[in-house]
Amino acid sequence: MATEPGCLFCRIVAGEIPATIVRETDRTLAFRDISPQAPVHVLVIPKVHLADVGSVAVEGPGLLSALLEECVVVAVEEGVADSGYRVVFNSGPQGGQAVHHCHAHVLGGRQLADQLG
Ligand code: AMP
Ligand code: ZN
Repeated sequence: MATEPGCLFCRIVAGEIPATIVRETDRTLAFRDISPQAPVHVLVIPKVHLADVGSVAVEGPGLLSALLEECVVVAVEEGVADSGYRVVFNSGPQGGQAVHHCHAHVLGGRQLADQLG
């Protein structure tokens, strides 16, 4: 599994930094955001180090699909599938990406803002 030295989320995958894990598959990990912006705020990441969603998209067979499927399962298990939720990938400087290991934010549990940016 490709990891990036010093990458925060690779270290969470490796168990070197604690996180509240909510789901795990062979290729993905879902854990609670340390600074939640909504009652439900879970990050879903590929275990392999890929910097952003574009890198995941070109990685090959089905990783982006697996990531999105996990987002949906998280929403169901967190009880927000019916009330509604948002899946967000921040990418790059103007996209507001702070951690350069691809992650999807799954947000729900309250009425989210109309504006996205
Ligand atoms: P982004 O701005 O899209 O790169 O989002 C990075 C997210 O990672 C933010 O929502 C942070 O609160 C979250 N985060 C940073 N460090 C940790 C950590 N150790 N455990 C869980 N979430 C974290
Ligand atoms: Zn990483």
